[in-house]
Amino acid sequence: RPWNFSAGPSALPLPVLEQAAQEMTDWHGSGLSVMEMSHRGKHFLQIINEAHDDLRELLSVPDDFEILFMQGGATAENAIIPLNLIGRQGLGKADYVLSGIWSEKSCKEARRYGDVAVAGSSGCASVINGLSQAAFTWFPEPAQWQLRDDAAYVHLCSNETIGGVEFVNWPDLNALGAKGVPLVVDASSHILSRPIDFSNVGLVYAGAQKNAGPAGVTLVMIRKDLIGHALPHCPSAFDYANVAASGSMFNTPPTYAIYVMGLVFKWLKQHGGVAAIEQVNIQKANALYNYIDASGFYENRVHPSVRSRMNVPFFLANEALNTTFLAESEQAGLFQLKGHKSVGGMRASIYNAMPLEGVQALVSFMQEFERRHG
Ligand code: PLP
Repeated sequence: RPWNFSAGPSALPLPVLEQAAQEMTDWHGSGLSVMEMSHRGKHFLQIINEAHDDLRELLSVPDDFEILFMQGGATAENAIIPLNLIGRQGLGKADYVLSGIWSEKSCKEARRYGDVAVAGSSGCASVINGLSQAAFTWFPEPAQWQLRDDAAYVHLCSNETIGGVEFVNWPDLNALGAKGVPLVVDASSHILSRPIDFSNVGLVYAGAQKNAGPAGVTLVMIRKDLIGHALPHCPSAFDYANVAASGSMFNTPPTYAIYVMGLVFKWLKQHGGVAAIEQVNIQKANALYNYIDASGFYENRVHPSVRSRMNVPFFLANEALNTTFLAESEQAGLFQLKGHKSVGGMRASIYNAMPLEGVQALVSFMQEFERRHG
């Protein structure tokens, strides 16, 4: 199979696809495809319960957090979050940290539901540790965030899929003067690629289609005391209290997507869990960034302190070669390397399902391309 560097929906582990194919028409002797099962029957209940339990185990989700499987992707969560949280204690306010296109979209959507302010933004050029950085190639320093102590929550995106900016040292907002204000994190594009420290967060959410499974299911991990504060006009199916009380089955859930996601969780457990995959992800990211940095032919423009392990945007020094690079890479079995249109250049997304071998194949191709065109 070709190596698939798509930003999402992205490659799934081959053993997962093979198992799903094998079980397609008869799941575990039930005589049914998972697609045909009642979501309330014992077979599907087993599938969804195991998926909940495996996710809790993989990410060590604390007992005071609820795990919800929802629909509508992270985009729907951008509305569902304010609908559920902004009215908490009648506060009506939320602060957003802007670090790229995805956090900007989250902020824009939230403005429809309350008083939303920008706590910090990297949307302008800056000099960080002596390096000149363009807009959205760095992350706003928490110590400089403008936080309101009466905000209902603070939102950030911990991995900007388009810009390739990853921010993992989630600060304790109490220490920044926002006492008791929960942090809400969009972790869509690096969920399960590394451990999560839940001590400083109130809610983590992620669309599944990058690291967790097929599109159609959204993961929400929410501290239990944050449930039950939905605005009166919040749709019932999006009220966290209803989703939690019904075991993520307030309405028919995306059963097949949940099943495949459950297979991904089992694959991850068999490979040593999140701590083990993190080590592979570090090797992969190092292999690619080290090569790019050593080459004068390619360039990554993100500040080294916040470079994403999952999404690596890069540019050819001679942009006139972009079309040739993409055509030749595809011929070499390296798919979907075109950068997002807002950034340009190339982007290699190297999620959990991409083995080190795939990244090595990319680096070899890049070396060979440089040799021929450099
Ligand atoms: N947030 C991030 C970081 C993303 O990468 C994406 C999609 O790529 C989204 C939000 C939107 O997710 P969805 O398409 O699942 O609504």
